[in-house]
Amino acid sequence: MPGDMSDWPKTIVHADMDAFYAAIEQLDDPSLRGKPVLVGPPSDRGVVLTASYEARPYNVGSALAMAKARRRCPEAVIVRPRFDRYTEVSKTIMGVFAEFSPHVEAISLDEAFLDLTGTDHLFGDPRAMGMRLKDAVHEATGGLTVSVGVSGTKYVAKVASDFQKPDGLTVVPPDDAQAWLAPLPVSRLWGVGPKTEKRLHAIGLETIGQVAAADPDWLTHKLGRVGNHFYALAHARDPRRVEGSRKSKSVGSERTLSEDVSDRNEIARYLRRSAEEIGRRLRRKRYVAYGVRVKLKTSRFQILTRQHRRRQPTDVADALFEDAVLILKNFDHPGPFRLVGLAAYDLVRQEEKGQDDLFSAPQRPRQLETAIDDLKERFGPNVLRRATDLRKARQTPNLDFLHDDEGDDA
Ligand SMILES: [Mg+2]
Repeated sequence: MPGDMSDWPKTIVHADMDAFYAAIEQLDDPSLRGKPVLVGPPSDRGVVLTASYEARPYNVGSALAMAKARRRCPEAVIVRPRFDRYTEVSKTIMGVFAEFSPHVEAISLDEAFLDLTGTDHLFGDPRAMGMRLKDAVHEATGGLTVSVGVSGTKYVAKVASDFQKPDGLTVVPPDDAQAWLAPLPVSRLWGVGPKTEKRLHAIGLETIGQVAAADPDWLTHKLGRVGNHFYALAHARDPRRVEGSRKSKSVGSERTLSEDVSDRNEIARYLRRSAEEIGRRLRRKRYVAYGVRVKLKTSRFQILTRQHRRRQPTDVADALFEDAVLILKNFDHPGPFRLVGLAAYDLVRQEEKGQDDLFSAPQRPRQLETAIDDLKERFGPNVLRRATDLRKARQTPNLDFLHDDEGDDA
C-alpha cells in the first residue's frame, strides 16, 4: 500500500546517469569493465570528459587535463568519445522517463527532472517510484545505472540524486528537506562554485543550515542579490516547475550563399554572424549550450558536420565563434561550399547549469552582448555590425534563416 502522500504537495524526481560516457563504454566493451576508464581525447591535449568509478580513487574526474589524468592514473584506458552512441542511449533513457511522466525536463544528455506528482496510485510511494525508475533504466539500456533523488522541489531532488552516487536512491520528504540540507556544505547550494564558496566561508558560513539561520538582509548586504537566492534554497524553497513541454534542443543559423566559397576566412565571417544570432537567441530564451556544431554543404550537395562539446556551457557569441573556428580546422574538404551553418545544441537552462560559479563566470563579454541585444530590440537588427561584416556587406546573402530544431539530431 502506498504511503500517505498528503505531505507531498509535489513529487519531483531528479535522475542522473552514473559516469554516463564511461559507463556506456564499459557496457559496449566488456573488456573495459572493472577497469579505470577515461573518456576523452587520446592525446595529452584536452580534458577528461568522464572517468569511470574505478578511476576516481586516483583523483581524476571530468574537466581534468588529460596529461595530468594519465600521470595520476597511468593504468587507465583512454577511450575516444562516441557522441553518436551517447546520444542514442540518451534517447533511450529519455524515452523511459517519458513513460513515467508527461512532465520530463531534460537538462543534459544524461540528466532530467520528472514531475511525478499524483502518480502514487500508479507507481507507489516515492521510494517505490524511484526503484521502478531505476529498474526501468537498467533494463532499457541493458545494464546502466542511474542515481535518483526524490523530493518536493527541483533543488532538493537534484542534491538528493547526488547524495549516494553511484546507483543511489535518496528520498527526502518535503517536510524534512530543510533539516536534511542543514548539515551539508555551502558548496551544495546551486550557484556556489569555488570562489563563492570562499566568500561564504569568509563571512563565517560553512553549512547550508548556517545560511538558513542567517539574517536575510545581512546576506543580501554581504552577497548582493544572490544572498536572497541562497537563503531561499537553504530553506528548501524553490518554486521552479518542471518544464514539461519538449524544449527545442538546438538553436541554429545557417545560410545558403549566393556564390560558393572555399576561403576559410570568408567562411569564418559567416560563422561569426551566425554565432551572434545564436548567442542572442540563447540569451533571450535563457539557455546555455554545451555543444557547438558547424555544418558545410559542398557545391555537390554533400553535407559535412563537425561538432565540439564545451567544458562549460555558454550563451556568448564570442565563445561560440571561437569554437566554430576551431571546428572549422577539422574539415579537410577543400570546398567549395554553398552553405555554412552553425548550431548550438545540448542546451541547459541558464539557472540550472549546476555548480558553475556565479561570481567567477566571465561576465564582461556577456554584458556587452546583452547591451547589444537591447539595442537590436529597440532599433532593429542592423543597428550594429562588426567592421569586418561591413566591408563585405554587399555580398551578404538574404537567404539567412533560423530554426529551432525540435528534431532528434542533437
Ligand atoms: Mg551524470
